[in-house]
Amino acid sequence: MTAFVGATLVDGTGGAPRADAVILVEGERIAAVGNRDEIPIPPEARVIDASGKWIVPGLIDAHIHFFQSGGLYTRPDVIDLRDVRPYADEIAGIRQRIPDTLARYVASGVTSVVDVGGPFWTFEVRDLAERTKPAPRVAVAGPLVATYLPPELKTDDPPLIKVDSPEESRATVREVLARKPDVIKIWFIPLPGQGLASQTAVVRAAIETSHAAGTRVVVHATELEVARAAVQAGADVLAHSVEDRRVDEAFIKLLKDRNVVYVTTLVVSEGYQEVLGRKVRLTDIERRLGDPEAIETFDDLARLPIWKKPWAFQWFSRDIAFWNLKRLQESGVTIAAGTDAGNIGTLHGPALHREFELMAEAGLSPREILTAATQGGARVMGRSAELGTVEKGKLADFLLLDADPLADITHLRRIFRAVKGGAIFDPQALGERRPSTQTRP
Ligand SMILES: [Zn+2]
Repeated sequence: MTAFVGATLVDGTGGAPRADAVILVEGERIAAVGNRDEIPIPPEARVIDASGKWIVPGLIDAHIHFFQSGGLYTRPDVIDLRDVRPYADEIAGIRQRIPDTLARYVASGVTSVVDVGGPFWTFEVRDLAERTKPAPRVAVAGPLVATYLPPELKTDDPPLIKVDSPEESRATVREVLARKPDVIKIWFIPLPGQGLASQTAVVRAAIETSHAAGTRVVVHATELEVARAAVQAGADVLAHSVEDRRVDEAFIKLLKDRNVVYVTTLVVSEGYQEVLGRKVRLTDIERRLGDPEAIETFDDLARLPIWKKPWAFQWFSRDIAFWNLKRLQESGVTIAAGTDAGNIGTLHGPALHREFELMAEAGLSPREILTAATQGGARVMGRSAELGTVEKGKLADFLLLDADPLADITHLRRIFRAVKGGAIFDPQALGERRPSTQTRP
């Protein structure tokens, strides 16, 4: 038994902070939470003096991809540099660094992640995380069921499986369900010339098949009409902010009626813009805890000849996404914080803290951001009963902070210790002990 004594507890339920709190942890669960005068500390307990600290639930990144490094070579469908680094080499390097990536999450205070789409080998990452001490809890979707497959991502074990009909959609979902994913992910990219209705039928077939097996469905749909069609077809989670148009009342009502979770992913566009625009500005925590292998590649663009494929990335309308997030938050829609980490410029672990800054710029309060990053993420994982708040009976995933997170959202970076399943980690030691593992091309 371990007793964390004397911190100010922000338990994530939305109630007022509790001063001079006691948290008792037995094994991997929270045995008791209360004030010092309510909770007797058992004499055999190991006492951690947490006075002067703040305790918050462990953070959850509700949208990441382990098959992407965050570096320049990780999305050849966006910028094709395969003649500089073959895609197979990029994937091999990523797989080699997975234990390191897992540790970066814990060091960043992220005790759970949702991998919303990747090759079948990402199921092995979930297995590895279960056996590894400095690792977040990992929920996995497996291959994305996609209405489009970029040819550059074709491998023996591709991150996406393209489906062209409701029959193919059902068969593919069954194939992924055989690996026991935590969620099913659909990449809903409406193609020009094909009606939205026929593609929605393909998406609906996937969702029905998944729901019949009791598995919830996350859908990538960044345009308002596509997102609306996805939710009408049964989507449980929208993987991204709506970026093309302001949300309307009918859409808000639909999300509330269906209890849909809306994942933010504001930071991913910024990452692409900074790296491809050669104006990278790393935050302090990105410099400290970001994968140096990925960060090193950011400068390569300046040295490389102009790439052959025209850059397909569309500039993101920050104003619309920010406006929508604020509107949905005010309307009472469940928000989850997610980064889309692994995409170019979005670093596994620390990117979530930049996401929080952008959520704050959109007008969310520190309390709302913290709720999205804890309870919201637990909803995406389907594990609200065990995760997302610091309460008796839940898994002992929480952070000890050096500063008040409700005063300033950047205080969530000031992590003194991260606790996952009752195990205590020093973020500084985790960040420092990790050497670079791959030689540069
Ligand atoms: Zn994604």
